[in-house]
Amino acid sequence: MGDAVMRAASFHPCRRATAVRAGVLAGGVLAAAVALAHDPSADPEKTEAWTPVPPVVATPVGAAPSDAVVLFDGSGLAAWESERGGDAPWKVADGAMTVVPGTGGIRTRRDFCDIQLHIEWRTPAGTRGFDGQDRGNSGIFLQERYELQVLDSYDNPTYANGQAASIYKQAIPLVNASRPPGEWQAYDIIWKAPRFSDGGGLLAPARITVLHNGVLVQDDTVIAGTTEYRGAPSYAPHGCAPIYLQDHGSEVSFRNIWARELQAR
Ligand code: MG
Repeated sequence: MGDAVMRAASFHPCRRATAVRAGVLAGGVLAAAVALAHDPSADPEKTEAWTPVPPVVATPVGAAPSDAVVLFDGSGLAAWESERGGDAPWKVADGAMTVVPGTGGIRTRRDFCDIQLHIEWRTPAGTRGFDGQDRGNSGIFLQERYELQVLDSYDNPTYANGQAASIYKQAIPLVNASRPPGEWQAYDIIWKAPRFSDGGGLLAPARITVLHNGVLVQDDTVIAGTTEYRGAPSYAPHGCAPIYLQDHGSEVSFRNIWARELQAR
């Protein structure tokens, strides 16, 4: 951004911040825009952009947007398969799917790269005898490798980078927005897949933004690599891959799962 633009924008902190953001987006167009902002005779039509026209997306209340891939709407597990091969063995009832402990995790039959993902989850109401990582544990693995933790973190201390909405053993959530066990909760996730060179080197790490029950808990967090129980995260090259839900021995339920595929950055 040119010095003249910064001087023009510097008289007020809010205007300056707006100008800086606009500069990132619009580059050289900004100078003209700032000049027009101080010209009461400027033609307002000169700053109107009529194209590209955003595609229309219907957003019915309580349902997936019209351009989403519906992964679970309560009617069955056709979009999922067992990590052990074959159909997904989890229980479906009352609009929800529930982990059948010991049967293993399930994954989407379809691969995904960059996505917006909506998923609702509920940990079991009966918590007697279960604490820490043993209370309502599951997980949402983006591209089968990177776990956004699902856990009953309502009055249930554990290591902070392993509680609900953590990137498991990598990133502590900004706040704990957990509801009590037995209540439905929601994650809204923006996932940017890692980029690898043709030679397999890491060009750009994965990034994730997460809202937990509508509250920001991961803010464009950089993923350090695979989320490991033991040892450090690392990257190995891979392509688009399924969304995986973990069987960690708890009868965690899921419902209303949909993904919107995002354009490559
Ligand atoms: Mg887990």
